[in-house]
Amino acid sequence: MRGSKVMSFVLSVFGASLGAVLGSTMSALVYRIPAGMKVAFARSECPSCHVRIAAYDNIPIVSYLFLKGRCRHCHGRIEVSYILLEVSMALLFGALLPLYRWGIVQVGLYLAVFIAVTGATVDLKVRRIPNVLTYFGMLAEALLVLGRSIETHSFSPVVSALLALTVFGGSLFLIGLLTKGMGLGDAKLVGVIALALSSFGLYFIFYVMLGSFALGSVVGVALMVTGRASRKSSIPFGPFITLSFLIALLVAKF
Ligand SMILES: [Zn+2]
Repeated sequence: MRGSKVMSFVLSVFGASLGAVLGSTMSALVYRIPAGMKVAFARSECPSCHVRIAAYDNIPIVSYLFLKGRCRHCHGRIEVSYILLEVSMALLFGALLPLYRWGIVQVGLYLAVFIAVTGATVDLKVRRIPNVLTYFGMLAEALLVLGRSIETHSFSPVVSALLALTVFGGSLFLIGLLTKGMGLGDAKLVGVIALALSSFGLYFIFYVMLGSFALGSVVGVALMVTGRASRKSSIPFGPFITLSFLIALLVAKF
């Protein structure tokens, strides 16, 4: 019993550090993708003075606190959203790792969390979920499913993944094409999540979808009642899918 508590603590600390690094990567992506900048192997620079940020000034959370939220060179403010993403990802992964631990399926889960939160943040900012994120996510998840299939000497992970992708990603893609109410980016994000969750059962993906529609309706009605949105205004749906996915992961115990 004591040993497993120590293990949970170690996993939590490791998860929190991993989360802080992922949050930092996320802020860079959220800044670069909508601006059409290079995503991979790009060096971080200050958005105000464009001086390259040294490695020692780029430590998640720590650097922000040490520099008091300002650039070392031009003293321009570093957006608060950067540290918010780093702290919330540290908390989230600190909670997730002791719950789910480590393995091929879990890596797929963590990757989907990363893609979903990044997609939702970009969606809130520019009202679309970029293809570069969702295509990368689906490809990586598909490779992990293949890995799982080889590991278990069985085709069932591949079959479940294809089924999950068709039923959930496919149906939303159709709704998106037919109604234009839901973006195709949302459908692709659901595709990433469906692939990641396929080995946990289709019912679980169904609950995530149900939760996101419920959250979307509640917030949509609240915005209409308070006069901040009309029946015609479009509300980005990615954040609701992501929120529902995260709540389900934290509440459910597979
Ligand atoms: Zn600067």
